[in-house]
Amino acid sequence: MTTTASPSSASLLISELQSFGIRLADPRAGAPSRRGGAGPSDHKAVTIDGRTVMVPVHTAGAFDSPYQADHLGADGTSVVRRDGLAVGAIRFPRQPRFYGLQTLDGVPYQKIAVLHGADVLATTVLQSCVRYQSRTKTCQFCSIGQSLAAGRTILRKTPEQLAEVARAAVLLDGVRHMVMTTGTPPTPDRGAAILCESAAAVKAAVDLPIQGQCEPPDDDVWFTRLRDAGIDTLGMHLEAVTPEIRARIMPGKASVPLERYFDAFAAAVPVFGRGQVSTYILAGLGDAPDAILAMAERLIGMGVYPFVVPFVPVSGTPLEDHPAPSPAFMRALLAPLGAMLKQAGLRAADSKAGCGKCGACSSLSTFEE
Ligand code: SF4
Repeated sequence: MTTTASPSSASLLISELQSFGIRLADPRAGAPSRRGGAGPSDHKAVTIDGRTVMVPVHTAGAFDSPYQADHLGADGTSVVRRDGLAVGAIRFPRQPRFYGLQTLDGVPYQKIAVLHGADVLATTVLQSCVRYQSRTKTCQFCSIGQSLAAGRTILRKTPEQLAEVARAAVLLDGVRHMVMTTGTPPTPDRGAAILCESAAAVKAAVDLPIQGQCEPPDDDVWFTRLRDAGIDTLGMHLEAVTPEIRARIMPGKASVPLERYFDAFAAAVPVFGRGQVSTYILAGLGDAPDAILAMAERLIGMGVYPFVVPFVPVSGTPLEDHPAPSPAFMRALLAPLGAMLKQAGLRAADSKAGCGKCGACSSLSTFEE
């Protein structure tokens, strides 16, 4: 067994594992997995053919996955089997060294920010959300409150804490960019203000490219403020693209109309640059592939990078039993999307920071090659 596979077989295995998840013979191998929180929850980072991706390990689907990873071999790889037959091999990124540190006041760095993918430091600055307070408003896929309730993170990461952890992550673990997301506070800026103060503090400590992620703020002047504070790229995430699916899956957030997103994208692209504004679209929630591709075409025309990822049903959320999209569904979506992006010259690799650049939650960038 070798870890080297042709690019096509590697990306095939990635899309299979991202859809089905994987059972691990040794759940403690590599960096710890995450349960709950924003971003790739219930996943674990694994490296396939040199590419680090996030693969579900704690979801109900993963427990029934036909894929299983054996115990680590002496060469540091783990054989992946489908229904018992060896089909590939994976490695596990080692536990980051900054996880062993804590702040002077005793907060473990790991509760302030975590490693995503291979080289991304990720934090949720505010671990609560105005939309998470009520069952009728919460985004059905979100688990932002779960990791807080379990004591795995803290409610509010201060600018000083973020700067301290970012410096350590760069020094000790070679982190190359940072994602700062936030729950939405009950203020009109929708989180832009706390992203500004957080980014300014990090940039004063270490020269790390940063992606900020928030809902469209009430006033477009925030885009200039975010950039001037040190945010290099901006994510404003649609999640779902058709009004019916938005209303069903994220009843609170759907109160921000799609037109506000388009206006915000149009205002943000001149500030951050073409391809430096992005949106996250979850495939498999009910939007038809044609609807996602039509939305992507419109976004690409505006210079916005549409990062389309397979939906992962996170345990403990209202959608925990919702099926993940099949690998065939994702390939049928990502192949034409990758061609569109390539033709437009809007490549993940050219993004300065953030999810598109990381690419660990979707195999989209492999379809741009
Ligand atoms: S794509 Fe984004 S959410 Fe996924 S691991 Fe990378 S930085 Fe985290």
